[in-house]
Amino acid sequence: MIDPRKILHDVFGFPSFREGQEEIVRAVLAGEDVLAIMPTGAGKSLCYQLPTLAREGLTVVVSPLIALMRDQVAALRHFGIEAGSLNSANDPEENRRVVDSVRDGRMRVLYASPERLANTGTTEWLGRSGVNLLAIDEAHCVSQWGHDFRPEYAMLGDVRRRLGSVQTIALTATADVATRGDIMHRLFEDEPRLFIHGFDRPNLRLAMQAKEHARRQLFSFLDKHRHESGIVYCSSRDATERLADSLSQAGYRALPYHAGMHQAERARNQDIFLQEDGVVMVATVAFGMGIDKPDVRFVAHAALPKSIEAYYQEIGRAGRDGAPADTLTLYGLDDMRLRRLQIEQSDAADEQKRVERQRLNALVALCEAPRCRRQTLLAYFGETTEPCGNCDLCIEGVMSFDGTIEAQKILSA
Ligand code: ADP
Ligand code: MG
Ligand code: ZN
Repeated sequence: MIDPRKILHDVFGFPSFREGQEEIVRAVLAGEDVLAIMPTGAGKSLCYQLPTLAREGLTVVVSPLIALMRDQVAALRHFGIEAGSLNSANDPEENRRVVDSVRDGRMRVLYASPERLANTGTTEWLGRSGVNLLAIDEAHCVSQWGHDFRPEYAMLGDVRRRLGSVQTIALTATADVATRGDIMHRLFEDEPRLFIHGFDRPNLRLAMQAKEHARRQLFSFLDKHRHESGIVYCSSRDATERLADSLSQAGYRALPYHAGMHQAERARNQDIFLQEDGVVMVATVAFGMGIDKPDVRFVAHAALPKSIEAYYQEIGRAGRDGAPADTLTLYGLDDMRLRRLQIEQSDAADEQKRVERQRLNALVALCEAPRCRRQTLLAYFGETTEPCGNCDLCIEGVMSFDGTIEAQKILSA
C-alpha cells in the first residue's frame, strides 16, 4: 500500500488533508464500511478516490447527476487517473472505452448512475470484473426523509450484495438523525463506521432573538452592517417587497427576490447582488441555491426558517471567504405556530410529518438554547464541541461575567 500522504501530495497536489479526510481514508484502507457525513465543499470525493489509488483494483462510484460525473471524471483524468462513467448520456464509443478499460483492469474509478447499476446485467459484469470498493455519493437519496429521494437509490443495498457484499463507503452532506438511520438501514447489514465532520463555520457569529420590536431589532442589526453585502430572509413574497422598500427609504441599496417576480427582474437583482458591493438582498428561500458569493457579510432571518437544516444552509451563505460574518434570526410564537400548521396541513404521509415535526422542534430548541448556540446546532449534526465564544449566548455570558464597562455605557447613555 502506498502512503496516503504521498498520494495526496504527488497525485492531487494538496499540501494537507482537510478536517476529517485522513481518518476516513485510513478507515477505508483498513477495510471498514464507512458512512461519511461532511458538508458540501468539504472534500468528500477524495475520501474514496485516494484509497483507490493507494490500493489495486476498481472503485465503482454511484452518483445521481450526469453533469457531476463528467466533472469528476475530467478532474481524475487531469490528475492522470484512469476514470470513466456509465450513464444514459454516453455515446457508443465512450461505452466501448469504458468496457475495454474495465476488462483489462486499467480502469480505477468508474462512475455509474443508479439506473445503470439497477440493471442486473451490468452488476454481474462488474462483479465478474472484480470491484474493490463501492462508493455511494449523495447517499441521502436512499432516504425517503431526505429532500431528494430517488427510487433507484433504494436498490443499492441489493447492488452491493450482488457485487459480493463489497466494501462500501456512503457519503452525504445531510446529517439529520432520521436520514442517517435510513441510510444505514437500507445500505448496510452491519453498522458502518460513522464519521461526521466539518459542520462548524467558526467565522459565522450566531444570534437568535425573540421578536419584541421586530423592525427595530432588524434595523439595529442592519445598521451595524451598512455598505456590506448581505441577505435578509423573509417568510412571504409580500414581506420581501415591503421590507426592500422600507430599507431603500432608510438609505440602503436593497432589492427584493422571490419566485413570484418576473424571471428577468429576478435575474437582474441577482446579478446586481453578485456584482456590486453593499447590496442587501431581501428574499424568500427561493434565493441562494448555488449562489457562490464569497464576501456576503451577514444573513438575517426576519422570521423563523423552515427547519434546522434550512437555517444552517441559509446562514451558511455568509462568510464563505472565511472572514468574520454576522447572523441574526428573529423568531416569534406566531412563526412557530405557522410552521407547525403548515406541516399538519400538508398532505405528506404521517411518518414524514413526524420527521418534519422533529426538525421544527430541533429549531425551536435552538432558539431557546440555554447555552452556546453553536454547541446546540452542531450537536444536532452529531458533532461535539466546546463553547464557541462567537454566539450571542457565549458573548452575553462573558458580558455578565465582566460587563462593567458595557453596563456603564448603557447606564450613561
Ligand atoms: P464535496 O463532495 O464534499 O462537496 P468535493 O469532493 O467536490 O467536495 O471537493 C471540493 C473541492 O475541494 C474540490 O475542488 C477538491 O479538489 C478540493 N479539495 C478536496 N480535498 C482537498 C484538500 N485536502 N486540500 C485542498 N483542496 C481539497
Ligand atoms: Mg460531492
Ligand atoms: Zn457559543
